[in-house]
Amino acid sequence: MNYDVIIIGAGYAGAVMARQYAEDNKKVLILEKKSHIGGNAYDYMDENHIRIHEYGPHLFHTNEKEVVDYLSRFTEWYPYEHRVKGLINDKFVPIPFNLTSIEELFDKETADNLKNELIKEYGMEKKVPILELRKSNNPEVRNLAEFIFEKVFKYYTMKQWDYSIEQLSATVTDRVPVFVSYDDRYFQDTYQMMPKEGFTAMFEKMLNHPNIEIRLNTEALDVMKFDFETGKIYFEGKEFTNDVIYTGLADYLCGYRHGKLEYRSLWFDLKVMDGTYQTAVTCNYPTPKEIHPFTRITEYKLMMENKENPKTAIHVEYPFRYDEDAEKGNIPYYTVFTEENKALYETYKKELEVFKNLTLLGRLAEFRYYNMDAITKAALDKYKSLTK
Ligand SMILES: Cc1cc2nc3c(=O)[nH]c(=O)nc-3n(C[C@H](O)[C@H](O)[C@H](O)COP(=O)(O)OP(=O)(O)OC[C@H]3O[C@@H](n4cnc5c(N)ncnc54)[C@H](O)[C@@H]3O)c2cc1C
Repeated sequence: MNYDVIIIGAGYAGAVMARQYAEDNKKVLILEKKSHIGGNAYDYMDENHIRIHEYGPHLFHTNEKEVVDYLSRFTEWYPYEHRVKGLINDKFVPIPFNLTSIEELFDKETADNLKNELIKEYGMEKKVPILELRKSNNPEVRNLAEFIFEKVFKYYTMKQWDYSIEQLSATVTDRVPVFVSYDDRYFQDTYQMMPKEGFTAMFEKMLNHPNIEIRLNTEALDVMKFDFETGKIYFEGKEFTNDVIYTGLADYLCGYRHGKLEYRSLWFDLKVMDGTYQTAVTCNYPTPKEIHPFTRITEYKLMMENKENPKTAIHVEYPFRYDEDAEKGNIPYYTVFTEENKALYETYKKELEVFKNLTLLGRLAEFRYYNMDAITKAALDKYKSLTK
């Protein structure tokens, strides 16, 4: 078989690219080292009819109509708006921290005063990054900011990243701002929904095309060779001059020759039990790790279309330093955005430019965070630019 393109990885980046090439009548080969498609978004139905997200909860939300239209070719949806609560002073209150959180944590007089000060300073429906709130000129707002910083951000960040907030890029904390609002949804995007039959079924449809061949359980470097001296790529011993799309780790492809890029990993403890476990789909534990060594708990049946089930399944989420040889924490999840890591990635990216027919795409290959909608859009755009 002569392939027009080889794609490494069957997550969003790889699958969207594969579909686009296939519809342009190109023969596509996908190499995927895991035993399943869908990458990090892979889900499955357990024996109690609860859909589990193997690599942690994935919620679909976007403002991009183009992305919704595209993915809707492969799935129907049900409406779903995600809500999160956080354990603060022994109470579960809305996260992102908002006006309701204030009401639930302070007596009425104090709460009214704090809410007024916040609204006066920022206006309603405003999202304020915690680092900005801490710099307010208003001492009451600054006091509140210190409370929120301590109770919501400080320990959660240390548990999640093993760095203090100050050491991390602001993009990390900006993702969960303080919200001057009574809107207790975790996201405010126009489109918020979940695929009716799950993400894996959506990927199955996307990849079900006569021009697409998928080899699961196949580590790309077992069948391909990247020769940095000549800039040539080989597949099964023969030079491959057509497009190659790589969605795996950039440092791995270069043999880690300048050291490893840093990732945070997670380990999910799956527990199955009777009844219902908690009052929100996800409950955060922004407490010191000596009290709760995990960051959050997600209860999957509560995010399903049909929530009625006498059984339940929860994921208790433990952060780890990524180490491919470790028993727990051996999957790279979140890029650690320090200046050193960004510089190291640029070094690898430059070295990979020697391969003129190679494209790096996705959260691992580009060493950045992408939401599912953003990587779908990035893949659609990349395909257009490669084939224009
Ligand atoms: C814990 C967590 C929760 C998230 N929750 C959300 C959410 O709620 N909403 C949202 O929009 N986004 C969420 N995301 C982001 C989402 O997971 C990503 O947008 C998506 O996974 C990116 O797709 P990708 O194709 O770039 O990477 P991946 O999904 O990781 O796919 C890459 C694929 O390449 C394969 N691969 C890598 N190297 C090789 C190799 N050498 N040979 C063969 N195969 C290889 C991997 O096995 C993998 O299947 C979350 C991410 C994490 C970590």
